Amino acid sequence: MPDQEARAQRAKLLDGQIALVTGANSGIGEAVAQGLGAAGARVAVNYVVGDEAAQKVVQAIRDGGSEAEAFKADVADEAQVQAMFKAVVERFGTLDILVANAGLQRDSAFLQMTLQQWQTVMSVNLTGQFLCAREAVREFVRRGPRDVSKALGKIIQMSSVHQEIPWGGHANYAASKGGIKLLMESLAQELAPRKIRVNAIAPGAIRTPINTDAWSTPEAYKALMTLVPYGRIGEPEDIAQAAVWLASDLSDYVVGATLFVDGGMTLFPGFATGG
Ligand code: NAD
Repeated sequence: MPDQEARAQRAKLLDGQIALVTGANSGIGEAVAQGLGAAGARVAVNYVVGDEAAQKVVQAIRDGGSEAEAFKADVADEAQVQAMFKAVVERFGTLDILVANAGLQRDSAFLQMTLQQWQTVMSVNLTGQFLCAREAVREFVRRGPRDVSKALGKIIQMSSVHQEIPWGGHANYAASKGGIKLLMESLAQELAPRKIRVNAIAPGAIRTPINTDAWSTPEAYKALMTLVPYGRIGEPEDIAQAAVWLASDLSDYVVGATLFVDGGMTLFPGFATGG
């Protein structure tokens, strides 16, 4: 049965590997954690609030046949990030895959944007990426090569279409995602000689709690669809499949790339009939 064979092959993609997903008790991170678990990885589920939601994700991964454990830490806090990586290595032995996914929005018209709104977004979305990536790289280098993957380690940074598309009313968020683009590319360039692959995923509109306003009423959904040529909202699983591929040896020659998973949102849909 070709379908069964394909499923069996996919289930082995990440066998023996250990993954940490930040912000993994909601939305995209939850789906990515479950996707990596279903592909055979043992999964560290990071979260900052919501013990119960984190335990639910852990249980779902275990029910699927992989090991999982929850690790509470604020990705914007250096000491907490370092303690989390130490705990993950103590629990699972090492780390092969980091999906730096945690992120948030603090939206405001620019005239009213407070320094706190700016700093909260930068601390979590950009500094959090730096702190987690640095600890992951330190662990990859400390431990050295393993026979579970061609790469020494893989980092996937969760960006956004707003690393490309300017976003009025969300200048802090767009700036943080633009920052991720060059952080990712600079890390990829610096670390490729060590066989560490750093890439990013740039989701478009995905149905999660971060953007409920954009899809939860028929009117909002209809307006959203004017921005999405493919004609449907993205689901967290769409991102999970991309993450599994980027974490696996199937993408071994992919270095420093941003994979847009956006139903065509970055294709300037307004120009399809105008311009
Ligand atoms: P979400 O709100 O469902 O999930 C965000 C997760 O990050 C939550 O688990 C939250 O608790 C966690 N988090 C927030 N601050 C944290 C901190 N300091 N430390 C640890 N974890 C923290 O939203 P989502 O849509 O799943 O977002 C996940 C990522 O995807 C974000 O980086 C977001 O910017 C990005 N993204 C989402 C969309 C979308 O349409 N949903 C589009 C583009 C990019």
